[in-house]
Amino acid sequence: MSSEQSELSPAARREALKEVFEQAQGCVRCTELAATRKNVVFGAGNANADLMFVGEAPGASEDERGLPFVGRAGKLLETLLGEIGLERADVFIANVLKCRPPGNRDPQPLEIENCREYLYRQVELIQPRVICTLGNFSTKLLREDPTGITRLHGRAEVLSIGRRAVRLYPIFHPAAALYTPRMLETLREDFQRLPELLAQPAPAQPDPELEVPEIADEPQSAGEAAGAASAADPPPGAGAEAEIDQLGLF
Ligand code: URA
Repeated sequence: MSSEQSELSPAARREALKEVFEQAQGCVRCTELAATRKNVVFGAGNANADLMFVGEAPGASEDERGLPFVGRAGKLLETLLGEIGLERADVFIANVLKCRPPGNRDPQPLEIENCREYLYRQVELIQPRVICTLGNFSTKLLREDPTGITRLHGRAEVLSIGRRAVRLYPIFHPAAALYTPRMLETLREDFQRLPELLAQPAPAQPDPELEVPEIADEPQSAGEAAGAASAADPPPGAGAEAEIDQLGLF
């Protein structure tokens, strides 16, 4: 994204986001994920949101529907949003990985690296004031630091993600809070601080001339290239209908 792009109108940024969406739909950078996913779960919500959530990776329900946080953790997220007077349509929800890891295993380091630029482009185009990272994976990725969520939750800090300065606010992942009442209590308390963070002035933006890498169209290794041809064929359940659905949501 050039420095002029950061000056784009909300409508133009949404169009640019759609282009990134289209690019992600055909992504075959991670051979295994591209071969096993039903849908690429790009993210959904308000493309001009002040508040963005970043989770870990799609699960089975998300993979099925092509939408983030539509299972039990998503219901809890909606409840917590409702308690601070917001709904899904007010925010943008994305994940570190856009494809479901088979069996809901943890995202692998190369997968996180392959997918990172999509998330950075989302941040640059949506231009949120506050990014709420849900759990360890998104917190570690966006802070570029291995410190875990247990130490960091509930503490906001201003940092740069690509060319965008944001207030980053790590909180526990709702899926973890589903099974641990004390964690749910903490998550709820941390959530209650969001309106106050959103009311703070937007962070000053860094030098718009800073260069960040473009998203490459090619797989990253010869091994991945070998798997790419079959992975590029749409899997069962994927297709035009799912894409239209997802696009309608931002
Ligand atoms: N958990 C996540 O991290 N992301 C989703 O989209 C759903 C569950």
